[in-house]
Amino acid sequence: MSGKIPDLIRQGLASGWKAMDGAAQRNDLFLSADVAVIGSGAGGGIAAEALSLAGLDVLLLEEGGLHSSSDFRLLEAKAYPELYQESASRQTLDKAITILQGRAVGGSTVVNWTSSFRTPPDTLLWWQENHGLPGLSVEAMRPWFEQAERRLGIGPWLAEPNGNNLVLERGCLALGLRHARIPRNVRGCWNLGYCGMGCPTNAKQSMLVTCIPSALSRGARLLSRARVDRLAADPAGKSISAIEGSFLGADGNTPSGRRFMVRARHVVLAAGAIGTPAILLRSGLADASGQTGRRTFLHPVTLSAALMPERIEPYNGAPQSVYSDHYMHTQPLDGALGFKLEVPPIHPLLASVTFPGFGSEQASLLRQLPHLHATLALMRDGFHPDSRGGEVRLRSDGSPVLDYPLNDVIWDGARRSWLAMAELQFAAGARLAMPLHEAARPASSWRQARAMIEGLPLRALQARLVSAHVMGGMAMGGDPSLSVVDEWGGHWTWRNLTVLDGSIFPTSIGANPQLSVYAFALRGADHLARALARG
Ligand SMILES: Cc1cc2nc3c(=O)[nH]c(=O)nc-3n(C[C@H](O)[C@H](O)[C@H](O)COP(=O)(O)OP(=O)(O)OC[C@H]3O[C@@H](n4cnc5c(N)ncnc54)[C@H](O)[C@@H]3O)c2cc1C
Repeated sequence: MSGKIPDLIRQGLASGWKAMDGAAQRNDLFLSADVAVIGSGAGGGIAAEALSLAGLDVLLLEEGGLHSSSDFRLLEAKAYPELYQESASRQTLDKAITILQGRAVGGSTVVNWTSSFRTPPDTLLWWQENHGLPGLSVEAMRPWFEQAERRLGIGPWLAEPNGNNLVLERGCLALGLRHARIPRNVRGCWNLGYCGMGCPTNAKQSMLVTCIPSALSRGARLLSRARVDRLAADPAGKSISAIEGSFLGADGNTPSGRRFMVRARHVVLAAGAIGTPAILLRSGLADASGQTGRRTFLHPVTLSAALMPERIEPYNGAPQSVYSDHYMHTQPLDGALGFKLEVPPIHPLLASVTFPGFGSEQASLLRQLPHLHATLALMRDGFHPDSRGGEVRLRSDGSPVLDYPLNDVIWDGARRSWLAMAELQFAAGARLAMPLHEAARPASSWRQARAMIEGLPLRALQARLVSAHVMGGMAMGGDPSLSVVDEWGGHWTWRNLTVLDGSIFPTSIGANPQLSVYAFALRGADHLARALARG
């Protein structure tokens, strides 16, 4: 395949991009730049292009490796250690929620599933009214969404949904639930279904094949396998004076012993909603509100599996193409948790660690993989007064871990979502349905499923919860005593520090977040470029 599809990264490197692999550095390195961008995912990647276009000298620092389409082989066992934080085994402190996050040049956009939603209007209105952000109306945000959509080919996906998504659509039709097709950020997609392992055809318009190559072609520099350890502040306590970090070895994880230091006029933090607060916590750089690393949200996800009479082949075809927001709107925004229904792609390795049971019992379920369907429910956290999200903490070695306590509000949402998903799956013709919970057993009717779900114990580690959406922890807001950054991502305390990633959201988004990250990072980068041009 690699012989026929142009490898944009290898071509770019051959054309003279200034891209350095930290694993190859034999000496410590000292660099300077107008703007150093830490993290190259959705926020960092799109900001790097915008700042380069504004004529600034940009240096991108990324702890993951630089991979390309020729490396993406549709293999879970290769992709997870290479492209994900903690080899796709990152978990919350009590291990109750598995967190998927990318760790590569391009960040989570290299492995995400391409669903592209604008920030819902009710979320923007909530931020305006409750977080002192009156400038964030739907109208004011529209140009930034449009710019990101144009740049990344975001638009309707016109191909027939795969079998997995069709079950969701059929269930919604049978129950009369509002549903729609999902826009995607792809150009010329082959409909393979392996987005989570890196796109082998460069169709996914991730940061790896769009904004990062564009920034590098304009002279930006990239330092990969370069982990930022801490920021140093000037003695006056007003600005960031240096960035200090470790180069990583060829495994992309272990420090090689070589270090780097960067001095930049301005620092952009875009290490994601766990990585960004972790850098500030490691640096001991407090903010006046004390909110750094707090109110981190996950859209905790519950899942329900179903065995369908027809072949579903849930590993083939665009992973997510149908959704329903019906249960987002059955209660007030700050009431019991609303949830968005979608489906996940099901590949054997991730399924074996997510589906309940083990040994021969689990093996017999997974043998029926071609007929397996799963629905997922993304719970909208951060609006109910008792939905305060989690807190990023540091382990003794300085690595971050998210403490996300599960409480009654979440468990109530979990039970309601399992009920809704099982009802939908039987309405779509499922033979068996089962929530992903250790105490659940396959039910053969909606009635049986309902009785079982109503009796399930609501306990961490029994319910299988996951998330691929990490948001918050560096909340923007209008009041420096309650928030960490302003509406442009500018840090309230450190005058040359801007945050441009998913950590700035004051609540969860209530929809898959990548397009929100792009739009807010574009807006913040534009503001920053103008400020730097003024001097
Ligand atoms: C499997 C999966 C599927 C998803 N599917 C979708 C989807 O379909 N639609 C959608 O909208 N969203 C999806 N998402 C989520 C979406 O991709 C993220 O919300 C978005 O990429 C977050 O952007 P970000 O800039 O905050 O962080 P990221 O994109 O995660 O980028 C952060 C970068 O910072 C780097 N970094 C961290 N710490 C350091 C450090 N100390 N030094 C240097 N670099 C560091 C990381 O390695 C990473 O590359 C998915 C995510 C995953 C993992």
